Order: sequence, then structure tokens, then C-alpha cells
Amino acid sequence: MNYLSTRGHPDRKRFCEILLEGLAPDGGLYLPETYPQIDTATLAKWRELPYAELAFEILSLYIDDISPVDLKAICAKTYTAEVFGTDEVVPLRELEDGVYIEALSNGPTLAFKDMAMQLLGNLFEYELTRRGSQLNILGATSGDTGSAAEYAMRGKKGVRVFMTSPDGRMSPFQQAQMFSLQDENIHNIAITGVFDDCQDIVKAVSNDLGFKRKYRIGTVNSINWARLLAQVVYYFAGYFQATASNDKPVSFTVPSGNFGNVCAGHVARMMGLPVQTLVVATNENDVLDEFFRTGIYRVRGAADTHETSSPSMDISKASNFERFVFDLVGRDAGKLRKLFVEDLGLEGRFDLSADAAFKDAAGRFGFVSSRSTHADRLATIRDTEKRFATLVDPHTADGLKAAREFLVPGVPMVVLETALPIKFAATIVEALGHEPDRPAKFEGIEALPKRVVKLPADAEAVKAYIAQNCD
Ligand SMILES: *Cc1c(COP(=O)(O)O)cnc(C)c1O
Repeated sequence: MNYLSTRGHPDRKRFCEILLEGLAPDGGLYLPETYPQIDTATLAKWRELPYAELAFEILSLYIDDISPVDLKAICAKTYTAEVFGTDEVVPLRELEDGVYIEALSNGPTLAFKDMAMQLLGNLFEYELTRRGSQLNILGATSGDTGSAAEYAMRGKKGVRVFMTSPDGRMSPFQQAQMFSLQDENIHNIAITGVFDDCQDIVKAVSNDLGFKRKYRIGTVNSINWARLLAQVVYYFAGYFQATASNDKPVSFTVPSGNFGNVCAGHVARMMGLPVQTLVVATNENDVLDEFFRTGIYRVRGAADTHETSSPSMDISKASNFERFVFDLVGRDAGKLRKLFVEDLGLEGRFDLSADAAFKDAAGRFGFVSSRSTHADRLATIRDTEKRFATLVDPHTADGLKAAREFLVPGVPMVVLETALPIKFAATIVEALGHEPDRPAKFEGIEALPKRVVKLPADAEAVKAYIAQNCD
């Protein structure tokens, strides 16, 4: 399998070459040259497989530069009941007639990002050992991504993590999750500033090419193809649990921010998984909902990006969206460049409303969307507790609200649970007047010793800290 850039760069790469990279050299995103097609016989065989073996089958269609024996071992060591809490790894439960919740949040940090990040940690260690090389991951987090990355990379050979976060702005639980890690290869850097300052620092350090090369700086952000690929697996696993046979369609609703999660659903659908509809659920930051309703994609400025009670969906532009649009415009890299480089670059928006391709978003590709507000979120959390004695987190609540707008009798609707309520306790207390349950292993983590340095919002200070801790 070879990978191409959405922006038309002539080079083709193999999986392990793009594993440790971010963007393609022309600024595009990597995608496989084709989507492998799954026939009904294969689907029938896969239905019987445990999660780790299903992951191996799907990954091996996209990865041909790791031996099958090694890849199988990596999948087996990643997707265990010990790490993810159950033998099913992503158990499905029926909430009400025809509406299901697929639990993706029982990994080490209680958000779905563990599903991909845990695999990435093992793939990084494998590839860095094979190359005899090292990587220093520099990131910015407002919560879920940073902790998932740290728990995936802790103790891994050849990898260090330098994770910046805005000092005092994450929830106490999220801070405790990250700062209580005592592993030597994990560095928490609390920046006196806001999340944007952290992102600016990461950009500034990455743009210093000399420094980047000397200290082998890398990232684990959501545009990484390996992360997206890992997420394709749970669409198959959810489908198998929601149906008794492979002739039945299923729809998925996905609480969305950077479009990584639902883009994996798109890939699963392109492979031939019988997915009827992909519902993109957004919060007040409704860039994506606006596109699927109107055909206009308009990125927001910092001033128009709201801080909401589903903070992991607070985005101003959706960094994986370019992958889907590439397919939408028939994989025409020239047209893609016109939209993402010229129109977005010059005007901050592009308009496909009059383009025939826009109709395909809903028709051929099955995408619809919806938007929720803080009031919707609270109402859904209350209603779900009252009627079903089930607690959902604010992001999953956005999903549930959207899902109910697109129910079709006879087609199971699977809502992806992207985090557990304990991560966002303040909103749960606001909705219900009581604290959410806490899994036993997180009892008292706020009182553990913290390993974190505080630095000013200054790229030079962060560079100096990295240099000091890299020998
Ligand atoms: C990251 C995240 C999302 C958004 O996922 P994308 O892949 O960026 O669309 C939604 N909910 C939670 C809890 C998250 O951590």
C-alpha cells in the first residue's frame, strides 16, 4: 500500500515512512492510494474475531512494511482487557429502542483517544527501535490529547514527551491524570497563558528547522494517519455488535471536532462496511455543521471560537476535513488545492454550495450533521440519567442529541461515547447536582505528587527546557 498527499505531491510513501511524520511536504494530508474493498465473505469471517485480531486484519491491509508476525504481536499487546477494561474492548449497549452507545472510553485516560494513541505508542517504539533512533514529541493540550499521548508513550524506548498545557486551565482531574505520571520520559510543561499560547509555542519550535532536526522533534496530532487507521477498527467492531448479519445497515453518530474520528467512519464506509449515515455532531463551534448544511466551509478566528462545556470539540477549523473533501471532489488534487490553499488561504472560506460534489456529501457519502448548545447538553445529560439511569459525558450528550434527529426505523444508530463523565465533572454537577462516579483506579489521584514545570509563554524557554532534558 502506498500513500499520497491530498495536494498532489508526486512522491508516494509507505506506512512506516509517514508514521513518524505530520503533514506531507506540500502541506497536504496523507491518504492511501485506494481503499481496500471488503467482500461479504471477509466480513463474515471478521464478525467472529476478537478485537485485537480484527485490528490486525484491518491494519494489515494498509501496512505492508511491518511483518505480519510483528504487526499481530503489536495489536495483541495493545488491545487487551487489561488496558481497555473488557474482552470486547469497545462494548456496545442499547440505550433505548434502536439507539446504542459504543464505549470507546475505557482506556487509561477515559477518552476515545486512547484507542488510537495506545497503538501509536507501540508502533513508535517498534519503528524507533528498528531504526535505532529517537523522537521527542512536542505537543499542546487542553486535556484529552495530551493525557492520551502521555499514557501511551510512558516508559517507551526512544520516545520522550514534552507536553505543554495552559497553567491552571484544565479540569483538576485532567491535571492530576497528567501531572501524577512519574515516568522519566514524560515532561509536563504548564505554560502561564492560554491554550493558543501553547499551540503558538509548538508552531514556533517546529518552524525552527535547525532545532527541530537537532532534537528530533515530532508530534502526535490528529492528522497522523496511523491514529485515523486505528479508529477504523471500532466502526467494524460496533457494526458487528449492532447487527446479527452482514446485510443490515447501521448508522453512526460521532461527536466531532477535528474530524478525525468521523473520518475513520468514512474510511470504513469506503471499504464497504454497510454504514447508512454518518452523523457529525458539533457543539456551538459549528464549522462542520455549517458545511454539511450549506456547502460553505468557513474557518473561525480565535474571537469566534467559543469555550464550551464540550471543550474537546472546541475547534476553529477541522484539521482532518481535507481528507474527506479530497474524496468528495473525486480525488482531484488541483481542485483540492484551489479550495484549501487559494480560497481558505485568501478568504478563510470556500463555497461548494453550487458544486455538484456537495450533493454527494449526503447522497453518495452519507454525511449529515447537527449542532448542540450548552442547554441541549445539560438537558440530554438529565434526560439520559432520568429515563435510562445512565450517565453520559457532555461530548457524548452532543452525540445523543444529534442521533435522535436522524433515527430511521430498523437501522440501528450507534452513538460513539468519546469520554467518561468523570473527566468533565463540573458540567455533570451543573446538570444533575451530584458528582459522577469515579472508576476505582482514579480514587484520590488529585492528592498524588505532581511532576510538572511551569514556564512562561515563550518558545525560547521551552526550547531551553527541551535541550536540557535531551541527553
Ligand atoms: C478529541 C475529542 C473529540 C473530537 O474528536 P475529533 O476526532 O477531533 O473529531 C470529541 N470528544 C472527545 C471527548 C474528545 O476527546
